[in-house]
Amino acid sequence: MSTDAQIAVDDYLVATLVDEDDALVSAREAAAETTMPGAAVAPNQGKLLAMLAAAIGAHRVLELGTLAGYSTIWLARAVGPGGRVVTLEVSEQNASVARRNLDHAGVGDVVDIMLGPAAESAQRLIDTGQEPFDLVFIDADKPSNATYLRAALELTRPGSLIVLDNVVRSGRIADAASAEEPDVRGVHEALALAASDPRLDGTALQTVGSKGWDGFALFRRVA
Ligand code: SAM
Repeated sequence: MSTDAQIAVDDYLVATLVDEDDALVSAREAAAETTMPGAAVAPNQGKLLAMLAAAIGAHRVLELGTLAGYSTIWLARAVGPGGRVVTLEVSEQNASVARRNLDHAGVGDVVDIMLGPAAESAQRLIDTGQEPFDLVFIDADKPSNATYLRAALELTRPGSLIVLDNVVRSGRIADAASAEEPDVRGVHEALALAASDPRLDGTALQTVGSKGWDGFALFRRVA
């Protein structure tokens, strides 16, 4: 739940620092036509993803969970015309809304949408020996987070960044009574995996705002 004050702060920050053009606004609003209305990242989060991609000079980005393509547009604009974004989406309905939004945003030729369960699509990318991705954004079904992080390790190189969204779940990740809830387990498994894998260094931050109380983890491949 977001408080009025948290939403007002997000509105102020976005109005002050984040330029959303018509294409981004319509992609964000088009989430209403998907299976998960309201599940896109907030504008300030979308811009953070784009800034991370730009900061590391990312040319290849992998996204798990496309929805209406809102975060995809931020990422696709960050990689520029020579770059590539591959985004994995299980819902045909969402993929078709995303395709329309990506075309409208002028990045349709930068983005490949792979339709199907993300674990299978990611395995196909691994099996076909794709060039490593510079940044991976994990934002699909939360119970599968550890599976997706394992796949991301196969699909990146030292220096790549991995962003795992929604790791706080309104505080339920630190509530013993919620430990067996599938999304909370998904977060615990992924963070435990990251903590135990010497190839990853990382941290996580809580966030509040228009998306309620949640957070994200950021990992860097150090080996
Ligand atoms: N990244 C998007 C954005 O910020 O604009 C939001 C993604 S939304 C939180 C999660 C998306 O993951 C939904 O579109 C949902 O259909 C998709 N999804 C859920 N389970 C999936 C799976 N097993 N494989 C691929 N996509 C999945």
